[in-house]
Amino acid sequence: MLDTAAECLIGLGGNIGPVARTIDGALAVLPRYGVDVLAVSRLYRSEAMGTHAGGSFLNAAARVRTSLEPHALLGVLQTVEETFGRTRESHWGPRTLDLDLLACADRVMETERLILPHPGMWYRRFVLQPLQEIAGPWRHPVCRQTVDDLLQRMDRRPMLVELPEHAGPQNVPDRYASAVCICRSGEVPEPAAGEDDPVFCRLQTADVSPAHLPAVRTPFRIECRDEAALQEMLQGVLAAALSTCRPCVAD
Ligand code: AMP
Repeated sequence: MLDTAAECLIGLGGNIGPVARTIDGALAVLPRYGVDVLAVSRLYRSEAMGTHAGGSFLNAAARVRTSLEPHALLGVLQTVEETFGRTRESHWGPRTLDLDLLACADRVMETERLILPHPGMWYRRFVLQPLQEIAGPWRHPVCRQTVDDLLQRMDRRPMLVELPEHAGPQNVPDRYASAVCICRSGEVPEPAAGEDDPVFCRLQTADVSPAHLPAVRTPFRIECRDEAALQEMLQGVLAAALSTCRPCVAD
């Protein structure tokens, strides 16, 4: 337990079954676990990420208050996912309900089970767009930008993405080619401390554990364990940042 209750941010999504009802049901059970729901965004329809993800997703975000410490809160979210029938057959596969712990106040932590803030939140439109409705002024403690700022930098064109010198040919799908400009490391100088980086995302290879999600150790940088992981991550980042995500009417 934390000494005092903290505000935390949660991302919700799914693409199997009556997702709108599943999301409502998940939010309705949270108070039983000591998690009070303060605000919930509208539902957004987003294109599926990755080739195995299935049909389009519904996404939402919630602001909650709890005295649970972050690992305990993650445990609650995983229990609720299981209650609503989530199976984990494949990473980025279809799912009835996905609950991500996006942030706990301005905590920064990285353990085997939990990375805070969630390492994918700053480049995922389907996370930021709903989150803006309920937490636009919240400031990401590593990126030092608000949710509003993060969405704005995602809209800059061209979107600059840095790859290492040794990375193979960049695989930018045709549909994103006009929006994206690939640069090689060193071409665009890194910003001084406190300044925003004109490069949307700097991908690099590093000795990171295969069990780890990509970590945000320094702002807007993603470490991948090898060239194959880097190419997969490039596809994932482009899809998450550039695919559409719009408010929708419940199914
Ligand atoms: P996924 O199946 O893509 O939702 O990933 C879930 C896995 O990511 C679980 O093993 C979690 O322990 C881990 N994880 C690490 N950080 C977070 C986070 N901030 N929110 C949710 N899951 C996390």
